Parts: sequence; structure tokens; C-alpha cells
Amino acid sequence: MTATEVDGVAVVSDEPREAPFRDNGGNTIYQPQTRVLTLANGTVVYGCQHCDYTSPNPNSIRPHLGKHTGRTRKSTATPSARDSLNLPLAELMARLDTLTAVTEDRDAWRTRALKAEKKLRQARNALVVIK
Ligand SMILES: [Zn+2]
Repeated sequence: MTATEVDGVAVVSDEPREAPFRDNGGNTIYQPQTRVLTLANGTVVYGCQHCDYTSPNPNSIRPHLGKHTGRTRKSTATPSARDSLNLPLAELMARLDTLTAVTEDRDAWRTRALKAEKKLRQARNALVVIK
């Protein structure tokens, strides 16, 4: 959640940041993940929409946002890669065998595809000669 106080000073206003550029129609573009926070003492700082990170520099928010996508990616995308560290060796070897078989199969298909392409080219060339 966006910060509600910064160094003990309450946030009194929380607005999305206006981008320093406009869209093609000249309309204002907002960067809703970058919050413009006005504090009770009148100071303006910039905050993250997802946590209490704040900075006086508006350009430090966008790089910070990567932290949140990174966390999501780590926790959801590759549980199998993380779990593989806990697998018994026999299971890992079985998976390696499967991977090898799939790779060999792919290579065989690639060889067939390349041969087929060559034959197709030859057939096309032959047709050109006939015309
Ligand atoms: Zn954040």
C-alpha cells in the first residue's frame, strides 16, 4: 500500500503522477503507479502505488516498480525449476532422459523439414522450367 506518512509527516494528498509527455492528441497521460504525495508540511514526494517506498525524485519510482513484477514472477512462474533442487537424483536422471529424447526427436524432425524444404525448392524450380 502507498505510504500514508513519510518520516512521521502525514500524507494529505495522493494523486497519480502526470507524465512529462502527452499522447498524440495532446491529452495528459497519467502514470498511476507513481503517486504524487503531498505531506502535511507542504512537501511533495513521489511514492509507489504498491508499497510505502517514497522518493523526492519522481524518476526513481519506475525503476523501483520492477521489484514488484520481479517478486510476482519469482513466486508464480517457475515453481518446477525451484522444486527440481529437492528432487531425488533418479528423478532428475529420468527427466534428463526425457529431455534428451525430446531433443533427439526435435533434431530428427528438423532434418526432415530441411529435406522437405529442399525437395519443395527443387519442385518449384522444375515448375519454373516447365513454364
Ligand atoms: Zn513499491
